[in-house]
Amino acid sequence: MMLKNKVAIVTGGTRGIGLAVVKAFLAEGASVALFGSRPETVTKALEAIKAENPSASVMGLSPDLSDYASIEAAMKEVHSHFGKIDILANNAGVSARESIYDYDPAAFQSVMDLNVNSVFYCVKAVAPFMKEQGGGAIINTSSMVSLYGQPSGCSYPASKFAVNGLTKSLARELGKDNIRVNAVLPGVTRTDMVAALPTEMVERISATIPLGRVGEPEEVANAFVFLASDKASYITGALLSVDGATQV
Ligand code: NAD
Repeated sequence: MMLKNKVAIVTGGTRGIGLAVVKAFLAEGASVALFGSRPETVTKALEAIKAENPSASVMGLSPDLSDYASIEAAMKEVHSHFGKIDILANNAGVSARESIYDYDPAAFQSVMDLNVNSVFYCVKAVAPFMKEQGGGAIINTSSMVSLYGQPSGCSYPASKFAVNGLTKSLARELGKDNIRVNAVLPGVTRTDMVAALPTEMVERISATIPLGRVGEPEEVANAFVFLASDKASYITGALLSVDGATQV
């Protein structure tokens, strides 16, 4: 029980890596508030979790992550429900594939709004609670593309480079309040997006990865558990790759 008596928030917790993080945090003894983009998907995720684990201490909300006031209200609701907030996993994110030649500027901005601005908003709303209670752990979901870039959809790697920048800077700023800030950099991970790819494409990708396969969401979630736990008490500002040593 690495997270016994801890209270965690996971954004984008309704599916994929986020849902795996929610389940892993619950399995390690935490109480969890998961955030999703729509009430229906939040309800579905809560039902699936309760079906597997009826005694899970879990709640769900769907704040608008592009709106600071909505996030601030959600953080206050979690705090009054559970009495504290120890862990924030900023995981919600979208990817992009557009070519620069036909990239609509509004579409570029919407990736930055979710992948970067919402991380800033969530940290800003949660840090005062963590400071007041004597500390906390923040883990941001970055990506391997934050190291290498990618050949299209430039907003996505740009947003994840920014997530690394927020991670490094906020680690330095919040260290004095005992708030640790780290990032997990997943490689290709078997979420809905990857599951929808043709088998031969997944095999081709896997052949380029030294461990010979794509990652599972649960393997990424294990890194979140470690960084959220007191076992990582002297680790802050770290960018932890979980990518089977992928080199692009
Ligand atoms: P996913 O599409 O399965 O899940 C995305 C989550 O983000 C969902 O819970 C969804 O509700 C939430 N979300 C999406 N748009 C939102 C919005 N506008 N407002 C609020 N919530 C919103 O994706 P995933 O693969 O599990 O990705 C999770 C994180 O991991 C993302 O930050 C992604 O960039 C990162 N990542 C994924 C991979 C991969 O291969 N799957 C690799 C590297 C990094």
